[in-house]
Amino acid sequence: MAKINDNFLKLPGNYLFSTIAQKVAAHTAAHPEQKIIKMGIGDVTRPLVPAVIEQMHRAVDEMGTPEGFHGYGPEQGYEFLRQLIADNDYKARGVEIDADEIFVSDGAKSDCGNITDIFSVDNVVAVCDPVYPVYVDSNAMSGRAGEFADGKWTKLVYMECVEENGFLPQIPKQKVDMIYLCFPNNPTGMTATREQLASWVRYAKEQGAVILFDSAYEAFITDPDIPHSIFEIEGAKDCAIEFRSFSKTAGFTGTRCAYTVIPKSVTVEGTALNALWNRRQCTKFNGVPYVIQRAAAAVYSEEGKKQTRETISYYLENAKIIRQGLQEAGLTVYGGVNAPYIWAKTPDGKGSWEFFEELLQRAGVVTTPGAGFGPSGEGYIRLTAFSTREATQEAVERVKQML
Ligand code: PLP
Repeated sequence: MAKINDNFLKLPGNYLFSTIAQKVAAHTAAHPEQKIIKMGIGDVTRPLVPAVIEQMHRAVDEMGTPEGFHGYGPEQGYEFLRQLIADNDYKARGVEIDADEIFVSDGAKSDCGNITDIFSVDNVVAVCDPVYPVYVDSNAMSGRAGEFADGKWTKLVYMECVEENGFLPQIPKQKVDMIYLCFPNNPTGMTATREQLASWVRYAKEQGAVILFDSAYEAFITDPDIPHSIFEIEGAKDCAIEFRSFSKTAGFTGTRCAYTVIPKSVTVEGTALNALWNRRQCTKFNGVPYVIQRAAAAVYSEEGKKQTRETISYYLENAKIIRQGLQEAGLTVYGGVNAPYIWAKTPDGKGSWEFFEELLQRAGVVTTPGAGFGPSGEGYIRLTAFSTREATQEAVERVKQML
């Protein structure tokens, strides 16, 4: 008789954003006259830039010719894109990463989840609290999280990121084997300094742990002192994996392209993780479409860089509008400077779902309740800067009026 992976049965309820979508749908059905402004899910609104569209069109035309047609591509990604990533995202910052240490994929979400395939189920996993839920749920699915009780998984190590510690994870007291870090952070919008990252690298090397570093939002860093990559830290090439994405950098949330960097020098029990991941990808993944990889390559052209930077600046300006507006309304806010997320403290000690409901009912503004990202997110809401300028301004005005 077939058996299921019963780890799935241990997962609590719905995925956070499905729950929010259901609440918004119910509200819209009850109040069809109210225009809802969505500042909840982290999806972009600006269109793909012209440089990307032009190369995408060209690649589509190529595919219609016998000489330009591309069938299955390399599972790891085309050399032209991997080399551009190595040169622009790493070499330009003084980091030597070889093209064959880069694996192009259809998303950082899939990579963050799938990477668990190459690690033992016995590893102890540390996650930030609050956290991007994918790290937690994917480890729960593969049996590394234990049981879900009182809002926490029994086997995960939660690194509280709260006001008192500047929303930065502290080195755990117990020994851990896999450490998920995300900077600029989703959901808090906080960044880590070079020294803070260096202390993680030191710890990981001492413990023989692996850092899983998610830098999906690195393009939002404007402060020249904040590292964009964990590999800017000495020693990280021995103990870290990095996830990056074109989703927020270049508006590829619906186009799908990302990459994972695994230096060949990262080994666990004498085995190179690069080789394991390569084996995993060759077996379970057949590559990102040629047309999409050509579009991603266009992000690195002079025009592409200029145009995507303009889009990022647009969102950062939205972030500033949200920060200032909410502060004027009397809220305490964090993040939103080198990041597209604003982490706002709920007023009068309200619960985060309670404040979420109030903003939805009274202002027609959708946010994300902090508690959805973990127990330490209670008492906060997350707003995203990815809406249009008009919607952002209107949402801020409505919240100000409400408060
Ligand atoms: N990592 C973090 C921290 C994210 O917030 C997101 C998306 O919201 C992702 C990864 C997913 O990126 P992708 O669109 O490449 O799957």
